[in-house]
Amino acid sequence: MPAKPAQRLKGQIAIVTGANSGIGAGVARALAADGAIVAINYVTHPEAADAVVQEITEAGGQAVKVYADVSKEDEVQKMFQDIIQQFGTVHILVNNAGIQKDAAFVDMTLEQWNWVINVNLTGQFLCAREAAREFIRRGPQPDISKATGKIICMSSVHEVIPWAGHVNYASSKGGIKLLMESMAQELAPHKIRVVSIGPGAIKTPINHEAWATPDAEQKLLTLIPYGRVGEPADIGEVAAWLASDESDYITGTTIFTDGGMTLYPGFATAGLRRVGLHHRHHHLHRRRHDPLPRLRHERVKPCWPTDTKTSFRPCCASSKGRNLAC
Ligand code: NAD
Repeated sequence: MPAKPAQRLKGQIAIVTGANSGIGAGVARALAADGAIVAINYVTHPEAADAVVQEITEAGGQAVKVYADVSKEDEVQKMFQDIIQQFGTVHILVNNAGIQKDAAFVDMTLEQWNWVINVNLTGQFLCAREAAREFIRRGPQPDISKATGKIICMSSVHEVIPWAGHVNYASSKGGIKLLMESMAQELAPHKIRVVSIGPGAIKTPINHEAWATPDAEQKLLTLIPYGRVGEPADIGEVAAWLASDESDYITGTTIFTDGGMTLYPGFATAGLRRVGLHHRHHHLHRRRHDPLPRLRHERVKPCWPTDTKTSFRPCCASSKGRNLAC
């Protein structure tokens, strides 16, 4: 991503967790293009972190890689110490690292539950606590940023949309909502802003199966009124804006970035779905040229959404793939 002329984050140090893949890499590119020095956190695949650093450097930005498992207190503290020693302070934290370990509720093991909660929720607590400690220690730098510090939590549409088959993941994201809001309330007097981004379906490795084939992507699109699956750059742009002074009066809220996934798209057709139309353009074309479009409808059974990979979809077997989301 080439450097942006405004350089809204010039002179600021950012840590992005899980930045060697998917959304985290997209956020890191966007912050660097806006002038921030970005620490690319990774826990596995150091070579992927090197590639993101190289990409940013070649585009004229500054980045370093930094190791930490965000669910481990000592490793998170060491990561912050390393970056503060190297660059003097931190101004922006993007709490992005996250995982899925999916299972039917009755089959979910305690290990699957704990792993997801530890990374997705406890990891965000540990990183945010270190960031807030550093923001308060350093104090305001109004020539660099109106806010003393910014914490951006990567949540999900599943902080509000329940998700059968993924109760550990949905619980972690629901937890992030109140973690973010409570931190925002407590830290606002220090002029620390805390916000969340709630992505819908974004094309990354975490949900590869949901968009990897045209057929899968077409089914996923039935959940997205805006008619396209998101890209990491969509989230990167929002993160860069939320980190900048342009959003200085925003704290304690979630910016859903989801092409309308949280708009209950099923209600657009009163719980019915159109069949026999292969994509949106064809559908719109028919509506424009046929004053009384003869759309057939069928009732939709409740089912697992496909914006993630999941190894079990009981509805598929019974519906022969006719459901929206199988
Ligand atoms: P991804 O699998 O590409 O990236 C996840 C990143 O987290 C990877 O870099 C991974 O190494 C890192 N990570 C995992 N465990 C870690 C740990 N213990 N310590 C440090 N890093 C760790 O997936 P993504 O889609 O880019 O996910 C990024 C975030 O966005 C997650 O929080 C995810 O829940 C959220 N999200 C994604 C989507 C989507 O559609 N892709 C939708 C909503 C929310």
